[in-house]
Order: sequence, then C-alpha cells, then structure tokens
Amino acid sequence: MSNKQAFDRTLAEIHNSLRFLADNGCRGFDCSGESLAKLDKWGQVPQCFSETLEDIAADLGDCRRCRLANERTCIVFGEGDPRAKLVFVGEGPGFEEDRQGKPFVGAAGQLLTRIIEAIKLSRSQVYICNIIKCRPPENRNPMPDEIKCCSPFLERQIAAIQPDFICALGTFAAQTLLQTATPISRLRGRFHQYRGIKVLPTYHPAYLLRNPDKKRDVWEDMKMLMKEYRYED
Ligand code: URA
Repeated sequence: MSNKQAFDRTLAEIHNSLRFLADNGCRGFDCSGESLAKLDKWGQVPQCFSETLEDIAADLGDCRRCRLANERTCIVFGEGDPRAKLVFVGEGPGFEEDRQGKPFVGAAGQLLTRIIEAIKLSRSQVYICNIIKCRPPENRNPMPDEIKCCSPFLERQIAAIQPDFICALGTFAAQTLLQTATPISRLRGRFHQYRGIKVLPTYHPAYLLRNPDKKRDVWEDMKMLMKEYRYED
C-alpha cells in the first residue's frame, strides 16, 4: 500500500469513528488544559499499585547517603494529607525544622501557614515537604550532589500522593522540579507541568520575610492556584 493509500484509509477510519460518535449523540470534545492533564494521568500507575509514603520513609531509613547526614539532628520527611490535592515543596529544613523533624515550622513556616490559611485550606489538608530532607550547615544552599541524592525520594513521594497541583516555593524547588535554570522571578506567575501535575512556582516565604513588597506577587500566584484548584473540585 502506498503512503497516499495508507493516509486515505486512516482518514476514512477517523471519519467513520467520528460519524459513529456523532450518530450516538457526541457533540464535541473537551480539549481544555484540565481535560488533557486528566488524560495524561490515565497512563500513570494507579495509586493502589504504587508505594505508600510509609514505604518511602522506611526505605529512606536513617539516611546517610550524603554529607548532610553528619550534622543534621532530624530527617524532615514531610507531613500532611497523604492524598493531598496540593503539595507545597520548599528548599530544605532550617534550624527549627531540623530540631523538630517537621517541615516549615520556623519563621518562614509560620508565614507559609498563614498563606495556606489565606487560601482557605489548612496544613492538614495539603502536603508539605522539601527538595532535601536534611538541614545544610548554617542554612547554606543545597549542593547539586545533595539535591541529586535526595530528590528521588521527593519524586517518589509525589508519585505516591498523586496531587493535582504542586506549589514550588523558591528557586531550588522550582528549578529542581522543572529541570531548568530559569530564575524564579521568570518562572512564577504561571503554571508549568511536572509529570502531568500542574506546578505553580512562587517566591519562598523566607524571601518574603526579607522582601515584604513581593507578598503581592505571591498573593496573585495563590489566587491563580485557588481558581484552578476549585475548578477541579
Ligand atoms: N525553608 C524551607 O525551604 N523548608 C523548610 O522546611 C523550612 C524552611
């Protein structure tokens, strides 16, 4: 069969299929971003076959896979609803988080809690975690090899939770999830995709504490996030 014949045959098959659907009452297709994202997810492993957060925490164990193990007090795995529709991903634990073993419980964490409440959710309705699970000494930036070592656990957590949305807090979260070097100021303000999940990057709460004039931008981002979040209900 020539290419032209194969093309004509495919066209005829499509025509017949569309005619069949039309005859049975189909009046069109919903090709919105929301519908396409849902279709993307159909190919993914269903929740019942994937590992749980407990499995992942057990595998992480008393992790000594990178140098951060030497100075940390606690591993900060993450907390919240294991079936959350929205996951917040930060950079890494600070002093308080390292002490308590919980994410975002210091000054930046209190601001994050207020942001979550401002969008009419609670910390227990979302999931909160970080790119790296151990505090870097003196709160320095995470190093590329530390991120490389730790981020597979975050990827597995996200796969287990299967959220519809991720809010990436700050440069490291946004750049790691989206595999880009684009600055946060250019990533924020619009949705990106991570494995069929909508990712909204915004400024990190610690940055907001130092730059309160940026709160307005974060509020715009949160309104955008909420609009989509409620739309998917
Ligand atoms: N900053 C982060 O990025 N994560 C935390 O858990 C706390 C502060």
